[in-house]
Amino acid sequence: MARARTTFVVQNTIRLTDHLIRVHLGGPGFASFQPNGFTDAYVKLAFPGADGETMRTYTVRSVDTAAEEIAIDFVYHGDEGVAGPWAAAAEPGDTIDLLGPGGAYAPRADADWHLLAGDDSALPAIAAASGALPSDAVGRIFVEVDGPADELAFVHPEGVTLTWVHREGAEPGVRLAAAVRAESWLDGQAQVFIHGEAQAVMHDLRPYVRKEHGVTAEWASISGYWRRGRTEEGFRRWKSELAESEKSATAAV
Ligand SMILES: Cc1cc2nc3c(=O)[nH]c(=O)nc-3n(C[C@H](O)[C@H](O)[C@H](O)COP(=O)(O)OP(=O)(O)OC[C@H]3O[C@@H](n4cnc5c(N)ncnc54)[C@H](O)[C@@H]3O)c2cc1C
Repeated sequence: MARARTTFVVQNTIRLTDHLIRVHLGGPGFASFQPNGFTDAYVKLAFPGADGETMRTYTVRSVDTAAEEIAIDFVYHGDEGVAGPWAAAAEPGDTIDLLGPGGAYAPRADADWHLLAGDDSALPAIAAASGALPSDAVGRIFVEVDGPADELAFVHPEGVTLTWVHREGAEPGVRLAAAVRAESWLDGQAQVFIHGEAQAVMHDLRPYVRKEHGVTAEWASISGYWRRGRTEEGFRRWKSELAESEKSATAAV
């Protein structure tokens, strides 16, 4: 990821749903922000604190070059954490430092169909991808949110179905994985984008896509965006432990 560090200024905030807050960031820092063309473009935000800086990762939902602003949609998951509460309290004129953008995925024109799935943390990336699909694209989108009030409309081609999955108190990702598995798999080359709570994504949906349906890495963007019960620092440790254990399992075969 490009490591350019820029200071952005909060322009305004919009409460999109009870659990989603859009923050528009702009100011002089926008001039050095270089969009990378990926629909999952993400930045690292630096939150200053008494013990130093805390970094958090967020998708760039959209870039408005005319208004010289980027939009970031924050899941407000309660008073816990750094970024969610910051977004809830953000006011015009507040500043935040940002690194990036990074990114790796955009819909491919040579895919026969598209499968996009995730929870509310991946909704910005999924909505951005959906908006970039050609009008004749075929596919399925699944988004898990708390309940009907958290559904947030976004454009999708007619041939791409959108299914909202409601958590309603269930563990994050469990109903999402069940909904994806319950749907029929379409013919032809699938391009897959699945992100969200790491346990469900990495231990359930990834094997479903990669092993059961044989989708190769080049056609699959699948990873956790957060881990239940862990801060982002704890989640990073979980990811490297998982990568290590997968490496040893492969070496032992
Ligand atoms: C590439 C990438 C892009 C991402 N894009 C977005 C995005 O656009 N919008 C977005 O909201 N998130 C996004 N995330 C996820 C976000 O980085 C994490 O959710 C992050 O942990 C939030 O930081 P925090 O300070 O609010 O909570 P933390 O301090 O990291 O965690 C505090 C507690 O809150 C829990 N928690 C964290 N996130 C959630 C959640 N979403 N729902 C319920 N509980 C949670 C943790 O398990 C922990 O118990 C992205 C992550 C990655 C890797």
